Amino acid sequence: MKLFELNIEEAHQGLVEKEFTSEELTQAVLEQIEKKDKDIFAYLTVTPELALKKAKEIDAGIARGDQIHPLAGIPLAVKDNILAEGIKCTAGSKILENYIAPYNATVIEKLKEVGAIIVGKTNLDEFAMGSSGENSALRPTKNPYDLERVPGGSSSGSAAAVASNQCICALGSDTGGSIRQPAGFCGVIGLKPTYGAVSRYGLIAMASSLDQIGPVTKTVKDAKIVFEVIRGKDPLDSTSVESNVQNLKSNIQNLRIGIPKECFSEGIDRKVEKVVKEAIDKFVKLGASVEEVSLPHLPYSLASYYIIMPSEASANLARYDGIRFGFTKTNPKFQNPSNKTQNLIDGYFKTRGEGFGEEVRRRIMLGTYALSAGYYEAYYLKAQKVRALIKEDFNKVFSKIDILLMPTSPTLPFKLGEKTKDPLSMYLSDIYTVSINLAGLPGLSIPCGKINNLPVGLQIIGKPFSEELLFQVGQIFEQSNT
Ligand code: GLN
Repeated sequence: MKLFELNIEEAHQGLVEKEFTSEELTQAVLEQIEKKDKDIFAYLTVTPELALKKAKEIDAGIARGDQIHPLAGIPLAVKDNILAEGIKCTAGSKILENYIAPYNATVIEKLKEVGAIIVGKTNLDEFAMGSSGENSALRPTKNPYDLERVPGGSSSGSAAAVASNQCICALGSDTGGSIRQPAGFCGVIGLKPTYGAVSRYGLIAMASSLDQIGPVTKTVKDAKIVFEVIRGKDPLDSTSVESNVQNLKSNIQNLRIGIPKECFSEGIDRKVEKVVKEAIDKFVKLGASVEEVSLPHLPYSLASYYIIMPSEASANLARYDGIRFGFTKTNPKFQNPSNKTQNLIDGYFKTRGEGFGEEVRRRIMLGTYALSAGYYEAYYLKAQKVRALIKEDFNKVFSKIDILLMPTSPTLPFKLGEKTKDPLSMYLSDIYTVSINLAGLPGLSIPCGKINNLPVGLQIIGKPFSEELLFQVGQIFEQSNT
């Protein structure tokens, strides 16, 4: 096995047993990036000098006999909407093309503290808006399983980098599926933690009531290792909380699984449905009890999400005005009020019109419209009421069952360009993921099979703060496949 193919656990063992050094491991990953990334384009920035310097420090510690954390000396990739001090952070947008992060996100602080090594920043749909990676202002990432297909989005680069061994593990962010859907499309593990489980400080905001940072990894155990480091209350994010419910099952026979009947109605690719149903059957064979449940408001989750998310995004993105930071088309002389060559509004229009891509502009317009005085009640308020009903549906089913199983996506990874002309069909890719963000629940996507060598993802959903149970169930499934 090549060094870059290792998972976190295996790499940690190799480092501790001095089979190889962190420098060798990091070098192997950097060489893999060099070789693979010209075709896949998972990275926007690679930081070899910083990574190798850090690796040498870890190696010196190991040589001194230090006890090291399982993530120490492990090459990690970070989605390019999470700030890492001194490194460019573009959010996949022209408007932040040359923006250098002035501080570390809390998750980065925590990962650095345990000695993880950042090898680079990964590609994404602009401001994390998208399901295919094609909204990146730079160029789209390709799916390592088939270079003509999309890797999913918006954490496209993170999922593709893990799947093509261009890092050992990665961080993504998930507002409506952006960790789980690309993980599903690339055949890797992706966790969207419970809302509030992980600090959002230093994550470039898209929709603040939905955004969460989470791990993308090769195994479920690895996702647990990363999550354990990044989770917890942070004084810099008032929505973060310290909670780790230990609701583990002593054995799988005690596990009650619910399958929402609304999931397998129209819209799902029948081949994907078959693979997901076979995965569910596997749980039955392992001894779990499986029952059909109903989430009656699930069919309204996309409509509600695509009002709430653009509304919040339109407010969050107001800060890119060409004056405070980032790309600008505002006349520099504008600072002088006697200058009549350009008015302020004109500067905003030019900056935002040229700096933002089409999808970002579309969502800003949708959000601004939904929040406007005349339409607020009809759209935004209504969407929030539907959100409350969706949450209630989940609360009800979780009084009788422990976890829910759903497909991660309704289709296989689609071809590049296939849906770019039709935003509504693109939005349908998120049909199984957005409700989990609306309800603030944790969701774990794990690979459950392949169709024509293209991966299919299974989503395991739990009550708030039941990540431990999700890992336990995910591991049982993973092991049953080996
Ligand atoms: N694909 C969804 C969207 O475009 C989810 C994005 C995300 O989770 N960041 O909104």
